[in-house]
Amino acid sequence: MNAGTHRPTIIEVDAQAIRENIHHEIKRLHQGNDLFAVIKANGYGHGLIEVAHFVVEAGATGFCVAILDEALELRSAGFSQPILILGIVEPQYAQLLADNKISVAVGSLAWLEEATKVLQSDQPLRVHLALDTGMGRIGFQDRDELKPAIDYLQAHSEQLLFEGIFTHFSTADELDDRYFKLQLSRFNEFMSVVPKRPRYVHVANSATSLWHQVCEGNMIRFGIALYGLNPSGEAIPSPYVLKPAMAVSSELVFTKRLKKGRSVGYGATYTAQEDEWIGTVPIGYADGYPRNLQGFHVLVDGQFCEIVGRVCMDQLMIRLPREYAVGSKVVLVGKSGDQEIKMEEVAEAAHTISYEIVCGFSARIPRIYL
Ligand code: PLP
Repeated sequence: MNAGTHRPTIIEVDAQAIRENIHHEIKRLHQGNDLFAVIKANGYGHGLIEVAHFVVEAGATGFCVAILDEALELRSAGFSQPILILGIVEPQYAQLLADNKISVAVGSLAWLEEATKVLQSDQPLRVHLALDTGMGRIGFQDRDELKPAIDYLQAHSEQLLFEGIFTHFSTADELDDRYFKLQLSRFNEFMSVVPKRPRYVHVANSATSLWHQVCEGNMIRFGIALYGLNPSGEAIPSPYVLKPAMAVSSELVFTKRLKKGRSVGYGATYTAQEDEWIGTVPIGYADGYPRNLQGFHVLVDGQFCEIVGRVCMDQLMIRLPREYAVGSKVVLVGKSGDQEIKMEEVAEAAHTISYEIVCGFSARIPRIYL
């Protein structure tokens, strides 16, 4: 997709904010524990390769991604750190994974058996066994399923390296920790049949690391918080100030005095109650700005301005407190004067989570690195 470099809509990514968030987290880890930065989905929309550089500068010792192509892109860019793919990769790619020293999550014995069919033994494939303690997504269901896989790894150690074991919590970002504790006890049950702990034992995403430090493990998979966003939205305060890395802004490209009684946008869902100044901003749902944000706001000159009418594919309209010139700055996420619109607020207004908003900003919006 072409980035819109001839339109004033931009995403600014604050590299220093990312570095600071990582510094804060590393300070809280036990000495020697690793922080792997989760930079899947184009670094949660912030830019895969750029974020990879920032997190390594800040002390991250590895990366987590979701798919093989993301891992290969990191290798092509010259990153030699450990990379773990969190999702299932088809076993036919086992040799490609091994050749590139890319570690992979495995959730079944059948996967290991398939992989060994294509693997030569010059470079073992690094395997992280996924334990399903309650997320219900990927992984071994119980100890009876896990044990044969561990035996298989031991029997095929020339082709397969048992490098890690992990689980993923589904409610670590909630105040009620009963389900979290259930998952933790299942994890401990699983670990009782692991004869020797592998190099990496990891259970923590951002929320687990921020709020459940009791968990044992020697590596964390740190995602949303490195971008300065609170995994719980606004439900649980972070133990340190998370600094948001992403700001989204644009400019007014058209303004007009709308007469009382005239309507705005598809479906004519907004009608002026009096003569009003209306501005048009070149961003819409094709850019990843949610369509259901009529009634939410943006900032112009430090003032909140309501989004009027439905958000269109490429444009949206706002009500201005007075006449503003074409070219005036519009902040959709970030600071303007004394005011700020947080990503979490945008997410809440759109009835979703900040993860979906940041990942959803399309390649049409150029990313600028500060
Ligand atoms: N670990 C796994 C298995 C994940 O799927 C994810 C993200 O979805 C993460 C870690 C990172 O989570 P967070 O961004 O909440 O830190």
